[in-house]
Amino acid sequence: MFDLVIRGGTIVDGAGAAPFTGDIAITDGAIVEIGVLTGAAAKNVLDADGALVTPGWVDAHTHYDGQVSWDDTLESSIANGTTSVVMGNCGVGFAPVAVDATDTLIDFMEGVEDIPGTALYEGVPWGQWESFPSYLDYLDTRRFSVDVAAQVPHAPLRLYVMGERALHDGDSTPDDVTKMAQIVTESIKAGAAGFSTSRITFHRTASGQTLPGTYAPEQELLALAKAMVDGGGGVFQAVPASSAGNSMYSPKPEQASMLEEVAMFGRLSRATGVPFNFILAQIRDNPNGWREVLAASAQENSTGAKLFPMIGSRGISGITTLRTYHAFSRRPTFVALQQKLSHSELVAAMRGPEVKAAILAEADAPTDKPGSMDNVQPAVFAAALERTFPFYAGFNYEPPVSDSFLARAQSVGRDPLEFMYDFLLEEDGNALGVRFSGNYWDGSLDACREMMLDANTVWGLSDAGAHVKYVCDMSTPTFNLVHWVRDRSHDRLPVEFIVQKMTSRNAHLYGLNDRGTLQVGKRADVNVIDLDNLAVHKPVLCFDLPAGGERFHQAATGYLATVVNGELVRQHDTDTGARPGRLARTVHN
Ligand SMILES: [Zn+2]
Repeated sequence: MFDLVIRGGTIVDGAGAAPFTGDIAITDGAIVEIGVLTGAAAKNVLDADGALVTPGWVDAHTHYDGQVSWDDTLESSIANGTTSVVMGNCGVGFAPVAVDATDTLIDFMEGVEDIPGTALYEGVPWGQWESFPSYLDYLDTRRFSVDVAAQVPHAPLRLYVMGERALHDGDSTPDDVTKMAQIVTESIKAGAAGFSTSRITFHRTASGQTLPGTYAPEQELLALAKAMVDGGGGVFQAVPASSAGNSMYSPKPEQASMLEEVAMFGRLSRATGVPFNFILAQIRDNPNGWREVLAASAQENSTGAKLFPMIGSRGISGITTLRTYHAFSRRPTFVALQQKLSHSELVAAMRGPEVKAAILAEADAPTDKPGSMDNVQPAVFAAALERTFPFYAGFNYEPPVSDSFLARAQSVGRDPLEFMYDFLLEEDGNALGVRFSGNYWDGSLDACREMMLDANTVWGLSDAGAHVKYVCDMSTPTFNLVHWVRDRSHDRLPVEFIVQKMTSRNAHLYGLNDRGTLQVGKRADVNVIDLDNLAVHKPVLCFDLPAGGERFHQAATGYLATVVNGELVRQHDTDTGARPGRLARTVHN
C-alpha cells in the first residue's frame, strides 16, 4: 500500500528527459515506483490526467533569513511551486550575531534587501542564537511548507569577527581572516549550503555605509573558500563588482570590472575546487557585457574552474505604486500630504492642479537613511520610464517598448513624469507599474533566452523575501512555464529544459542531492500542474509583516497539487496546512 499515487500525468523528470506518461508512487516521503501502476493500492490517489508532473522548484537565490523565524508558509514561493529555497545570499543574513549587534544586522538587511527594520525587530527572536551553527539549530525547530537551506553571509561574519572596524571598509588582519575561516568551516560542517558575499557599491546599509566585505581582498576570499573545503564544500555565492553597473546613488566607483571579477573567481575556484555562483544580468550601462561574461566564464571553466553565472529568465522587476515607491515618493509636498492624509484623501489632494504642479516641480528630499531604498528608489523609478510599463491583469512580462510610459507619453506629446503622475492616481491610487531594471534593454527577452541556454548558467535571481515592497520575482517559475513553454509567440523553450533548469540543476549545485528529479529513491517534492490554465496573477499589496509591514504577494493558479517530502502542502492553489518543510542541512561531497 503506497501513501500516494499520482496517476496518469505527463512526467517531466527534472533530469532533462523527454516528457512521458506514467504514474508515480510515493511512500514515506520518497518516490518508490514510476511507471504504469494500474490497480496499485494507495491511501491517496491524485488524478493527473492531462497535467504536468514535475519535481518541486529549487530557488537558490532568496532572502528569507529573517522571515523564516515568523512565517511558516513562505506563501509566494510555495504558491508558485517552489519546494526548496536557499537563503543567506548576497552577503547578508542574521548569523553569526553578537548580542549587541542586532541593530547593525538589521541596518544591513534593511539597506541591502529592503526588508522593513520594524518587521525584523519584532519578528525575529533575537537572542536565540549567536553562532551560525546555533542559528541552524534554531531553524531546525521550525516547520515550513518548503525546505530551507542557509548560506554563511560575509557581512555578519566580518562584523562578528572585526567589530566596528568592519563598518568602515577596514582591512582584515591575518588574525581576523583566521577567525572568519574557522567560523566558515564549522558552519559548513553544521550543514550550511555555502558562503556569500557582495562586492557592489549599490549594496549599502540603511545608514549608508558600504556593506562589510565589499572590498575584501582576494587573499581573504581565498582563505574563506579554503575554509569551505575544510568544512566539506559548498557554493561560494557572490554579487560581483559592476554587476549592477555604475550606480548613480553610490558615492564610490565600482572596484573592478565584471570581467576582472570573473577572472578572480576563476583563480579562486581553480585553487580550491569550490564552485562559484555569481549574479549576471543585462544592465543598462553595458547591455552587451553579459555575452562577454558568459564567454569568459566558459573560458575559465575550460581550464578547471567551476563558475556558474546565475541569471534571470525575465526582466528584473520593480513594482511602482502610490502606496510604496514611485518617482514622487520623496517630493516634499507628497511626503507632507502622505503623513497627514488617508490614502483616498491623498489621491484626491494629488488630483488638484496646484498640488500636482508643486510635486512635479520639486526635487527629492533625502531621508535620514541614505542607503535605504526609500531614499534611492524614487530617482530610480523616475529615470527608468522607457522600461516601465503599466502592470495590468494578464501582463505577459515581454511587452513591446511602445507600451512603456516614456513611449506612451511621447506618443501623445506629454511630459513622461507628468504622464506617470496621472497614471499612479488611476484605480483610486492603486494602479501598478513595473520597471525592468535588468534583462530588458533590448526591449525583448531574447537576452534572457540566450543566457538560459548557456551551458554554464543556473536559473535564479528571484530575491524572494527581499525588496518586499517592490520585487515579486518569486513568481518566475510559473512565468517560465506560461511564457517560455506555452505562450511566447516565437522561440519557445522545451518544457524538459525549463524544468531541469529550475530543479536538478540548482539542487545538484547546492548539494541537495536527495531532490530535484522524479526518480525512484528521490525525495517526493512534486508539482502537478494544469499547464493549459496556469497563470501568474497581478501582485497584491498586503500588510501582513510583523509590525504591520507591507509586502507584495503574487499568486498563481493552475497548481493542482504541490507535494513536499511526500505530503500535500497545496491542492488547487490552496494551502492544506501541512508543514513538512524543514531546515535542509547540505551534505557536501
Ligand atoms: Zn540577493
